[in-house]
Amino acid sequence: MNFQEYPVESLMFITNRPEIVFTHGKGSWLYDNNEKRYLDFIQGWAVNSLGHCNDGMIEAMDKQARTLINPSPAFYNAPMAQLAGLLSANSCFDKVFFANSGAEANEGAIKLARKWGKKFKGGAYEIITFDHSFHGRTLATMSASGKPGWDTIYAPQVPGFPKAELNDIATVEKLITDKTVGVMLEPIQGEGGVIPATREFMQALRALTKKHNLLMIVDEVQSGCGRAGTLFAYELSDVEPDIMTLGKGIGGGVPLAALLSTKEVACFEPGDQGGTYNGNPLMTAAGFSVISQLTAPGFLEGVRERGEYLKAQLLQLSEERGFNGERGEGLLRALLLNNDNGPKIVEMARDMGPDGLLLNAARPNLLRFMPALNVTKDEIDQMMSMLRSVLDAL
Ligand SMILES: *Cc1c(COP(=O)(O)O)cnc(C)c1O
Repeated sequence: MNFQEYPVESLMFITNRPEIVFTHGKGSWLYDNNEKRYLDFIQGWAVNSLGHCNDGMIEAMDKQARTLINPSPAFYNAPMAQLAGLLSANSCFDKVFFANSGAEANEGAIKLARKWGKKFKGGAYEIITFDHSFHGRTLATMSASGKPGWDTIYAPQVPGFPKAELNDIATVEKLITDKTVGVMLEPIQGEGGVIPATREFMQALRALTKKHNLLMIVDEVQSGCGRAGTLFAYELSDVEPDIMTLGKGIGGGVPLAALLSTKEVACFEPGDQGGTYNGNPLMTAAGFSVISQLTAPGFLEGVRERGEYLKAQLLQLSEERGFNGERGEGLLRALLLNNDNGPKIVEMARDMGPDGLLLNAARPNLLRFMPALNVTKDEIDQMMSMLRSVLDAL
């Protein structure tokens, strides 16, 4: 179909979208209404952990759709329990609550921390968060985020989120008062431009939060589920947080998220938390397929290998072109440009032919790479050669 035949004008305007409609995808490739194909290094915003239309997920969802779609969140179902069991067996957490988006999981983390503060810490409710962090688009998670400008769009903000600077423990310590209940951070700031918290900082933060009896909350919506080369990014720093949130990759493309905590912190009482779709078997069956594939022997080792390979290619390109290097973990990486051409490169890469390339510029001076975790070395090579031709044409 021609672009003009799609009734896109009926969609509420929220962002500038290119005049193409994506129709199907497989693995690392996405196809539009003109049958043009694109090598996809965005993957639904680091969402399709196993690429487009993964066979295992299709099979799991097809089977589940024919068996049971939603008995009600007030009843148990098998995939919900199985996925919770798999997550707790593979993490330092004991208890899992499922949600439908990263923002909702983070709202749950904020509520759990405030509940814990009320019960065990004299009503403490403030959660220290970080400049340039991103925690979602609900009012509370926007208030928790350190994204410039987000404090005024929908003012007034939800109170209780003082901001510290990532990788500077003194700025955290300075904000601690008897109102503080915890500290929440992304182990790798994603939207902020792929900025990892250092191992030293994560360890200092764990020690500081223990010393003051504060909760350490990791938002692993982007860094979790294999993206960083380990199942969860907190593992890279050898720390054990109290609360973790997951989103994006856990559903492999479908709306699924999770809030996890240790059994000591899991203090919700009946009526405190819920949601109509939370833990529905269709989505949790998809999540069970994703996490089973990620934890299969050798898979994460492969992610680390391909991450190192991508890193080496990006460093070589950076050297060739006089860029400022690269950073990231596993298959969440950024190439640091020496100018603000990021958005221009993204547009040219998408529009070039015969094949296009989908990249993201989280900030104007960098390009972010978040391919499928099962991307091949050959696809990484293709991406690099396409990127080189865009840079040549610029
Ligand atoms: C994307 C993201 C969120 C929000 O997730 P949604 O599913 O869009 O609500 C929260 N935290 C981080 C770190 C993210 O990258």
